[in-house]
Amino acid sequence: MQNYDEIRIENLECFAYHGVKPEENEQGQFFYINAVLYTEIRKVAAEDDLNQTTNYSKVAKYINELMTRETYQLIETVAEKIALSILLEFPLVQKLDLEVRKPDAPINLNFTSISVKITRGWQRVYIATGSNLGDSEQLINTAIGQIKGHPQIRDVRASSLINSTPYGVTDQPDFVNGAVTFHTLLTPYELLEFLQGLEIAAGRGRDNNKGFAVEELQSNFLSSNKSVRWGARTLDLDILLYEDILIDEADLVIPHSDMHNRDFVLTPLISLNRHLKHPVLNRSMKQLLDDLTERYAVT
Ligand code: ADP
Ligand code: MG
Repeated sequence: MQNYDEIRIENLECFAYHGVKPEENEQGQFFYINAVLYTEIRKVAAEDDLNQTTNYSKVAKYINELMTRETYQLIETVAEKIALSILLEFPLVQKLDLEVRKPDAPINLNFTSISVKITRGWQRVYIATGSNLGDSEQLINTAIGQIKGHPQIRDVRASSLINSTPYGVTDQPDFVNGAVTFHTLLTPYELLEFLQGLEIAAGRGRDNNKGFAVEELQSNFLSSNKSVRWGARTLDLDILLYEDILIDEADLVIPHSDMHNRDFVLTPLISLNRHLKHPVLNRSMKQLLDDLTERYAVT
């Protein structure tokens, strides 16, 4: 992430009712909030216009309002809700540190205060889109529309779509492939869940031109070839990169474990960002595509 300027709000005093103990919810206590808003100041400063910047007075009032609008047991939850709300409400804030301090927490020991501090921000993501059943272009474009409509996703840019012959299992229709990039507040797992929901929704669609259910066609194909890994599908949405994050779990691998071997992934990625680098292989997508072309030329 690039270096941002900072707007700081320090020790904002809010009277609120968060806590696990009933007396905390009834009597309330003072909380103190520290917020560091990461944003770009240079352009705003040149204009010297309050409407072009993040108005810290509005942010402070907004935090105070959020502190009392609902009551939570944990200051962890309070911090999470406030951080996400600020990022959604103040679009120039790219990232923020948020600390919620509770000096009068009910503990029978000597201490100055208890606090939680979190950092949240808009994360740059790249995903791959693929389809080889039904009206592939329309299915992909519909998914892009749904991605654009998600409240925690913004700045969506899609590559143009390309046609490619199947990879892995070659006995199936040609694919339409592309890549999409955006900023999101969703965690990698939340994003995976959202994308899988779109895949399922697309699988239920009907191919009106041909008059049969796309999912029927898909299940026929799958039942004739049960072990297929890269089988025919109405819509495949894979997370390629999520900032420089590394995840290696059974149900989620980021960077996508096979992206560097797929020209139909690398080509659209390069068209979105010529300088994009693979965070593990430490090579640009262009270099990876050249490697691939070379490998095929030899064998
Ligand atoms: P593939 O995309 O490999 O052809 P599927 O779309 O059927 O296969 O996905 C199979 C599983 O891959 C998903 O259930 C998901 O949990 C897992 N998976 C692992 N890493 C990723 C990723 N980066 N993006 C999307 N799915 C992933
Ligand atoms: Mg997939």
